[in-house]
Amino acid sequence: MQLDAITGATKTTATPLEPKLTHGRSASTVSVSSPPASPIDAPKASLSSTEPPVGTPPPRAVGATDKERERLLYPGRVNLTTYPDQHGITPHPLNWGAADGASRGPVICSRLTSSIKQRNAIGAHSGSYSIYRALSIAMGALSPTHKPDYSQTEPPVSIPPQPSWADPSKIVSFDPYGHLVQTLFRKEIDEMELDIRPSIAVTKAHLKMSELDESARKGHLTVDGKIVMKSPPAHNADGSISKAYSGVEVFVSKAAVEPVWYLPGVAERFGISESLLRRALFEDTGGMYPELITRPDIKVFLPPIGNLTVYIFGNPAFMSDETKELTLRVHDECNGSDVFGSDICTCKPYLTYAIEECIRGAQNGGVGVVVYFRKEGRALGEVTKYLVYNLRKRGGDSADKYFKSTELIAGVKDMRFQALMPDVLHWLGIKKVDHLVSMSDMKYDAIVKSGIPILNRYDIPDHLIPPDSRVEIDAKIAAGYFSSGKQITEADLVKTVGRTWEETEH
Ligand SMILES: [Zn+2]
Repeated sequence: MQLDAITGATKTTATPLEPKLTHGRSASTVSVSSPPASPIDAPKASLSSTEPPVGTPPPRAVGATDKERERLLYPGRVNLTTYPDQHGITPHPLNWGAADGASRGPVICSRLTSSIKQRNAIGAHSGSYSIYRALSIAMGALSPTHKPDYSQTEPPVSIPPQPSWADPSKIVSFDPYGHLVQTLFRKEIDEMELDIRPSIAVTKAHLKMSELDESARKGHLTVDGKIVMKSPPAHNADGSISKAYSGVEVFVSKAAVEPVWYLPGVAERFGISESLLRRALFEDTGGMYPELITRPDIKVFLPPIGNLTVYIFGNPAFMSDETKELTLRVHDECNGSDVFGSDICTCKPYLTYAIEECIRGAQNGGVGVVVYFRKEGRALGEVTKYLVYNLRKRGGDSADKYFKSTELIAGVKDMRFQALMPDVLHWLGIKKVDHLVSMSDMKYDAIVKSGIPILNRYDIPDHLIPPDSRVEIDAKIAAGYFSSGKQITEADLVKTVGRTWEETEH
């Protein structure tokens, strides 16, 4: 069945979706596959109106049928997409790279009645968690019109504006004002009742890690009472106070940053056209975001991908102070190693080594920064990663086949594309890196290319490398990753072998 975007009339002939990046209504015929009794048929769908969810569903226990609840939740006709010249569409001004936050304007992607016609961003807040929000609303646990109370949520640590925030080429992958929304756009939120949400949150915490306890016990970390503190005594099972060594805890400031892509800037960073970027994003998200195609006037997209987290050791104000030494690790998520200690790679040992270096740097009068990106398995995802593990182990796990195995399964060696990664460094005001704790040539090149010089690089000390992960490290060094000492040739790689499949099960 076909639904005409302008008239809402049902067509009987199939017309493929032929989106054009113009205002032309030739792009307005949209295929809708649905059973006859679907809500798209009743009431009759029209794409020329913007009628978002407004109702609050009755609790399921009251006895309303799901059909009734659906109509209360979403009384308007199904609104598959919008167009720039559509009646009432007036995006709130958003000038990426403007001189200050107020003139830059808020990012608005809400479909609530109060905001939908003024939306200036495609997608939804909270990345992939937007799906859980949808579930909560469908189940009646959350009102779609719930208005968050952001009082008392402001950052307890200052991440102040930097010149880079007003440079549309320096930060393109998140909103640099995302943590200041509550105060910066209070008038728009309270008086204009626009649904504007923070995309960054800043807070403080203590870290407690067994590796740091052990380092402090050996005297490799100093308890200074400011950054590293002695942990309070632990309790025994009977509730009495234990006399055993209780270890240390580390004070950090941290920020969670959701992706908010300025599409022209992202396209430029990757050297492709904005039109091609939009089409690729539309197609390979299963057509989830048709406005990528129909709204070329909207330049901002909130992609359904994981966020990044910044951990700051020492005084955050030192990050933008060029007289202070800065230690940095940019770490891409590896759940198997980082959390569960899987020994096939060096991710966790490298991360904990970097945290210790950051702490020591801060204790020596500098500042340490660890940025944790949710790019599991080189952004290929954990399923692909495990498939590659299986292939490696079945084929005889030697370093010369390390990258080839990934390429066979995924088609590429790596999907992390570090070009967007340096944005966070510019956001923090970092102007040079004294100590980079990373062997990755891709990360190094991306940071330097973005205009931030790196003075020293550090590879993982040999004694921290688990035997089974020697395959990964040697393959990376041979492929051009930084190494302070070891040189590895292609011939050497054949000799570096990991645990066999049979040896895993004991
Ligand atoms: Zn790993």
